[in-house]
Amino acid sequence: MCYECGKKAIMRTVLAYEFQFKHDGIMHTTFVAQLPVLQCFECKEILFDNVSNERINQAIREHLGLLSPGEIEGALAAQGYSNYEVEKLVPKLEDILTGCWIQTYEEDYKLRTLLGIAP
Ligand SMILES: [Zn+2]
Repeated sequence: MCYECGKKAIMRTVLAYEFQFKHDGIMHTTFVAQLPVLQCFECKEILFDNVSNERINQAIREHLGLLSPGEIEGALAAQGYSNYEVEKLVPKLEDILTGCWIQTYEEDYKLRTLLGIAP
């Protein structure tokens, strides 16, 4: 149900989406050519769901050249590190892996150094 107009008129669609975000204190602008969203076809309100948010996070990481949670997880497994060991160096590891936190350049550098992933 649409929280804006209260009608049951939500459908899935894709749209071109440009947005700004702040990372390490700097504003960036980036673009997703085909962002999956939910849209109300009565009032045109746009709603983001988990799929939209994941796609936005992915675009932010690509724009900044940061490791993705999948890449970090793969390297952790390949190198045989436990999350606990890595958290001593990067305390926000869990939030990075679940997508709640986009790592800073410093955190990304620490992860790359530890896991042997070239920048
Ligand atoms: Zn609506």
